Amino acid sequence: MNDTWNKLEANIIKPGLCTQCGTCAGLSRGAIAFSEKKGIPIPTLINNTADIPEEAYSACPAKTCLYPQLNDFVFGKQEYSYLCGIVEKSYIGHTTDEKVRRNAASGGVLSALLIYLLEQKIINGAVCLQVGAKLPHKAEPIIARTKDEILKCAQSVYSVTSTNTILEQLEKEEGPLAYIGLPDQVASIRKLQMMNHPSVRSIKYVFGPYMGTQMYFGAIQHFLKSNGIKSENEIADLKYRAGEWPGYLQIKLKDGRVIKSEKFHYNYLIPFFITSSSLQLVDFTNELADISVGDAWSPKYENIKGGHSVVLARSEQGETLLRQMQEGGLLELKEIPISEAMDMHGHMIDFKKRGAFIRNKWKKIQPDYGYEPVHIPLPRIAVEWCLRFVFAIGKIKFVRVVVRYIPIGIIGPVFNTLRKGWKSVSKPTKRKGLRETQYKLTSHL
Ligand SMILES: Cc1cc2nc3c(=O)[nH]c(=O)nc-3n(C[C@H](O)[C@H](O)[C@H](O)COP(=O)(O)OP(=O)(O)OC[C@H]3O[C@@H](n4cnc5c(N)ncnc54)[C@H](O)[C@@H]3O)c2cc1C
Repeated sequence: MNDTWNKLEANIIKPGLCTQCGTCAGLSRGAIAFSEKKGIPIPTLINNTADIPEEAYSACPAKTCLYPQLNDFVFGKQEYSYLCGIVEKSYIGHTTDEKVRRNAASGGVLSALLIYLLEQKIINGAVCLQVGAKLPHKAEPIIARTKDEILKCAQSVYSVTSTNTILEQLEKEEGPLAYIGLPDQVASIRKLQMMNHPSVRSIKYVFGPYMGTQMYFGAIQHFLKSNGIKSENEIADLKYRAGEWPGYLQIKLKDGRVIKSEKFHYNYLIPFFITSSSLQLVDFTNELADISVGDAWSPKYENIKGGHSVVLARSEQGETLLRQMQEGGLLELKEIPISEAMDMHGHMIDFKKRGAFIRNKWKKIQPDYGYEPVHIPLPRIAVEWCLRFVFAIGKIKFVRVVVRYIPIGIIGPVFNTLRKGWKSVSKPTKRKGLRETQYKLTSHL
């Protein structure tokens, strides 16, 4: 049997570390594909005669993903914040094209970047996700070549999608391309760039959304069932962030019905369907991208509405691009201190930068990100045990079935109130000492 597959199976898949980034399948020459086991997409050997290249294992970001080394490679710098990576400038902003903005997840910045690069002929394609490219309910990675195709890819996809399965196709691309991916997918692209791998030769720009939590597709199936709809095959169109920011989940059915749920109500499914990668990954702000974009969660912008993004320029080419677009009137950007940008997401930064390290210590085989906190106070560990209990309850099938019978009009607001209550109760412990947390490099560096 293939040696690369043996290593993937023994060190990544069986210990439950796979983050479903898609790299192993994308580089496997057709030998590996994802198949669902108990609702979780798992890399599966579908052709055991094919010779799987070693990079399908070494570019995997799940077990060994050394951020200090990758930061040095991408940005040529070692001096950076362990909480948010290297940030040259931080902004609040949105695209000035209202059509793009209204069609997007937050301020439409990611879509606007891609459209500008395409229209200026700086790139000839952009890797992004399109829901409905093949099946109406499923997102697929595609290379968008026109503004219209970019717009079809807008908004966030909250169901796990293995973007890097597209790597096989990229090997044949002349480029230059832009690429959008989640933090682990971006990390894998950077590992491949470090290896000079042909699959990423054409990628010139790397952008990424922040990534707090993501869910298995079971969340959508559950939501359908709780609305009396038996199968995802009844979906005609699926949008995770439709309408006015922050948006709502909107599912149009083939029979013409439309079902919706406010973003913060739909979040009640997180404890039941959160992916293991959301719990494992320590990178919230997409630290290895040229530009990272998140929602500008702050009462000020939430009250204005319209869609506002927090934008971090990390590389020189990222910062130059933002400046050019701002000067050309394509982006409205207001520079803010990085501390303000971080304050908007203190809860999630803690979830990754202390919570994930605590959770990873509970694993038999632990991922190595090249650094770890020197010390996490006991009260913070206790908070994590409470969350562990909640997620364990959420995994029980009986509980999921019971929850399905509670109308979302009730459970959504109840969950939202509980979430807000939990956030305010745990806030002192979660924020206390976060900024001051000391990190150390892991031993082998
Ligand atoms: C799973 C997930 C979790 C997130 N969690 C948070 C969070 O906790 N806090 C926060 O502030 N922001 C979070 N974001 C980011 C936020 O939802 C927006 O993506 C971000 O604000 C960019 O908005 P935009 O209007 O500029 O993007 P848009 O202009 O709408 O463009 C989004 C681009 O990202 C691509 N894309 C969408 N989903 C994926 C995906 N799953 N994998 C790869 N590419 C994708 C799209 O194809 C599109 O090109 C998350 C995003 C995702 C996908």
